[in-house]
Amino acid sequence: MQIQLLPSSFDAGGSANAAQRLTCFLIDNRVTVDAGSIGIAATDAQRRTVRDVIITHPHMDHIASLPIFVDDLFAELEQPVRIHATQEVIELLKLDVFNDIVYPRFDQLKNDHGFVMQYVPFDVGKAFRVAHLTVTAVAVNHIVPTVGLVASDGKITVAFSSDTAETEDFWKMVNREQKLDALFIEASFPNSMQQLANASKHLTPSTLKLELTKLNHNGMDILAVHLKPAYRDLVVTELNQLGIEKLTVMETGRVYEW
Ligand SMILES: [Zn+2]
Ligand SMILES: [Zn+2]
Repeated sequence: MQIQLLPSSFDAGGSANAAQRLTCFLIDNRVTVDAGSIGIAATDAQRRTVRDVIITHPHMDHIASLPIFVDDLFAELEQPVRIHATQEVIELLKLDVFNDIVYPRFDQLKNDHGFVMQYVPFDVGKAFRVAHLTVTAVAVNHIVPTVGLVASDGKITVAFSSDTAETEDFWKMVNREQKLDALFIEASFPNSMQQLANASKHLTPSTLKLELTKLNHNGMDILAVHLKPAYRDLVVTELNQLGIEKLTVMETGRVYEW
């Protein structure tokens, strides 16, 4: 399984850099988890193969360029871009994004081949198929309806916390898996900003460490993501100071393979 965190920040010369302002994990060039940077960072080849997008929650950093992605592909799509989300999140996308004001209601528009976008609701706690993956989602603890996910291709199993503060059901779901190859977990703010992290329902390195005590698996790669660019250097230092084996900060643009 290949997973890439698409870049979302650029140097003066235009090349992508390490800061993560938007969230979009690309799995096997076919499926994404969230779509923040999909419309600006996907290569032309990736645009041709990604037709399934899982949205964990409707915050802008997770959906920002999804409308642009569908728009760019409008004429050439031979199948719709499928938006997998809970019904609750789908309703928010319909209300606030694809509402004929901010952007068109693409789920109601067709090209020569048919509809260009399709909402595919899933239930929390129940496995569902997305392309070649089996996915299960549960609610996590964020300020809007948000899910964390486990995804498996039958050989490799990975878990995404999405945006969350301390949470329980996510770890129960992850612990039910036979094994875990990689965990993508958020670490938004430095320890000194714990109050803001609590108020906005995010983790710091110290609460991330507490969360990991709920995990029964070991030996997997742990990739910290969603570091707020303004505090990135400090969060990286604090994560390194935790001394947790196989915990690294995920590099944007790099293709990881399990
Ligand atoms: Zn969020
Ligand atoms: Zn976010």
